[in-house]
Amino acid sequence: MQTPVKFVKRIGARIAEGLHERGIETVEDLLYHLPFRYEDRLHPKPLSAYQPGEMASVIGEVRGTVLLRTRSGPIFEMTVGVAPLNAATELTMDGLLRPPPIFETVKCLWFHGSYLKDRFRPGQRIALYGKLEGSRSGNALNAPPGSTKFKMVQPTFEILPDSNATGEDAEFTTLEMGRIVPVYPSVGGTTPWGAKLTSRWLRRVMWTIFRELKESGAFESGARGAAEETLPAALCERLGLPSRMEALEAIHFPAAGTSMTELMSARTPAHRRLIFEELWYLELGLELKRRRLREREGTAFVTNDQVREALKQVLPFKPTAAQKRVLGEIVADMRAPRPMRRLLQGDVGSGKTIVALEAALVAIENGYQVAMMAPTEILATQHYLSARKLLRDAISPSKKKPYRVTLLTGSLDDRMKRDVRGRIFRGESDLAIGTHALVEEKVDFDNLGLVIVDEQHRFGVQQRFKLMRKPGASGAAMEPDVLVMTATPIPRTLALTIYGDLEASVLDELPPGRTPIVTRRMPEERADEVWDFVRKQVEAGRQAYIVYPIIEGERDDQPELDFAKDESSESASQQVSESATKSKRGAKGKLPLEVKPKRSVARAKLRSASEMFDELSSGALHGLKLGLLHGRMSADDKDVAMARFQRGEIDVLVSTTVIEVGVDVPNATVMVIEHAERFGLAQMHQLRGRVGRGAAKSYCVLLTGSKISPEAELRLDAMVQTQDGFALAEIDLAQRGPGEFFGTRQAGLPEFRVANLARDRDLLELAKSEAARFVESPDPEISKAERDAVWTRLKRQWQRRYGLVEA
Ligand code: ADP
Ligand code: MG
Repeated sequence: MQTPVKFVKRIGARIAEGLHERGIETVEDLLYHLPFRYEDRLHPKPLSAYQPGEMASVIGEVRGTVLLRTRSGPIFEMTVGVAPLNAATELTMDGLLRPPPIFETVKCLWFHGSYLKDRFRPGQRIALYGKLEGSRSGNALNAPPGSTKFKMVQPTFEILPDSNATGEDAEFTTLEMGRIVPVYPSVGGTTPWGAKLTSRWLRRVMWTIFRELKESGAFESGARGAAEETLPAALCERLGLPSRMEALEAIHFPAAGTSMTELMSARTPAHRRLIFEELWYLELGLELKRRRLREREGTAFVTNDQVREALKQVLPFKPTAAQKRVLGEIVADMRAPRPMRRLLQGDVGSGKTIVALEAALVAIENGYQVAMMAPTEILATQHYLSARKLLRDAISPSKKKPYRVTLLTGSLDDRMKRDVRGRIFRGESDLAIGTHALVEEKVDFDNLGLVIVDEQHRFGVQQRFKLMRKPGASGAAMEPDVLVMTATPIPRTLALTIYGDLEASVLDELPPGRTPIVTRRMPEERADEVWDFVRKQVEAGRQAYIVYPIIEGERDDQPELDFAKDESSESASQQVSESATKSKRGAKGKLPLEVKPKRSVARAKLRSASEMFDELSSGALHGLKLGLLHGRMSADDKDVAMARFQRGEIDVLVSTTVIEVGVDVPNATVMVIEHAERFGLAQMHQLRGRVGRGAAKSYCVLLTGSKISPEAELRLDAMVQTQDGFALAEIDLAQRGPGEFFGTRQAGLPEFRVANLARDRDLLELAKSEAARFVESPDPEISKAERDAVWTRLKRQWQRRYGLVEA
């Protein structure tokens, strides 16, 4: 298995070089290059078993081909006859032989397909895979009258070996036909003579490898077989998992009768085994990391009467039960003489900030400094202002002095920055709040005891490591406690995997007195009714946000945006906008009822924050005090706009998504999101979380343009149906996949070979508990040699795959 691939038959040095670029070095690596789909060529389905629009995999016979010259280039057209169900002749009731079955035909088209013209001969057997569509044109070429008409545009195809093939082809016939056939993701590259490394090529290579592995005893129970096994035998047995070699073979060459559904969803026992293995090693590594952390030395904070008194001074309200419990968990962790690494999970509005500030006070009362980082300047500033407000009249019981809070963001001028850094260095700041500037700029703390990272859902997890490694004034590496706050409500096991070395606390309760936010989607052409509603709310003393995806023209507000990928820029398709239907205005200040959007009205371009600020100021919202906020304003201007909104001097804040995270103005009751179809779920949920923070009833209006993809429909529906961040995160995760959802690279997550964190949640749970058990008290049947092999393997993998070299 560790043999370099260049020694494998039909690979050689040239191809090996290409494979190397894909990270494939050894036979083992190659075997983990798994099929991404399968074709059932043992029981192929007839065309009529598919619905138009479905991806179909069929086997047929080439009937005829033609190269059509058209103005837009040559089109290669091929007609393929496909056997219907039960194609074999049968005796009918009256004892007569049925007439030979009428073949269904499918017409295949390749644009610019001249290169294909000499590839096919009538009578050839061919496997096709592609989207099946109904064909509008008349009878396909050579098709018997009455045959079904289907079409496939640019299907992938494989010419199947002839039954009278000779030589190598004959040997490999069984790999292409009469079985479930694997289809591989491309490995790129070509053979030395220029042929592509196709699935067919891979099948032959894999087949050869398995044959040789079998000959060398890798599949046997002897020492050679044991050497290829990567999980303790007793563990596999207890969990009913096949051996590794068996699993690999069954994935590449599934036995007849394997469920196609299980194969396609990676749920065969073989898949489960490989997924479990991958996740088990990951969890094993994380478990060790957490354990090692527990052995390291950290600050043991004490909680005495002074600390309790300090906390009491600053509590503006009765904490929820969840807040109390979570603070208890955090403080218990802080008291332990080891560095805290804790994740504070809580949905939007669950009240994380106050919990974090209380943890900060515990550290400060113990004579330490606290650093608090936020993902945006607005948020850092807001944390700063609310900390100042909360601590305004408080006197530190231990120091008999007020608390000293400083703000450090990138936009401060150099002199100010130097000044703040100086104060932090000299220990004249108890609580330093800032953006990345806190880690990126040269900030030395006098006596840093606790780091709070408010990352909401878009902060590089990596950054906290940088901060942790900062050397202290004394020169020794300091190990402050770390508390990471996140609003991404993902399941606990998943969180513990993503945030590898952290323990988790969950705020699972909203502060009391919140009424559910009314969420409604409205087509853009009814925006006037929405503006009317906003006006009524303002007249009732409330405030509103109106959020746009872009600042002006077509310029995105880049720093904060993460549009769902599926919508391309609408503005590209310039379409004439019908005059917005001036429907009757919502007279009583009630939110108009929802109607399905009219499909025909298309917008000329995206509405933008600056343009709509002008338009609304002089139009629909004339007379109200409007403010504008976007990412390209100077930090000072942003602060001013935010502060004025906070103080109620602005009624309506027209903004881009810069206000997405954390902003807390309880008097705001309306959130209007324009072009909501362009926003991701997490983003909309965050935006909606800006309202519903006070006791007054709040509203979220999703204004939509005319082009809404099915994925966007799903997101909008989900938003209307639930306010549960947990449920929304599930949908988001399923829709975007873990890579996008977590921003894999950014989060420092490993790239999995087999596993998929969104799909394999059940196996992740299992892997985590089994990993803990293995570390704690492994099954007695697991031998010392097996355990040693696990650790050796873990070390090797951990460094190679995850690049996380242990400190
Ligand atoms: P998030 O978890 O989204 O950061 P915040 O910490 O901003 O939430 O809190 C949301 C709002 O709820 C704030 O206005 C905060 O003052 C308020 N709040 C927090 N805890 C409580 C509580 N126990 N009782 C009442 N209001 C609370
Ligand atoms: Mg917050």
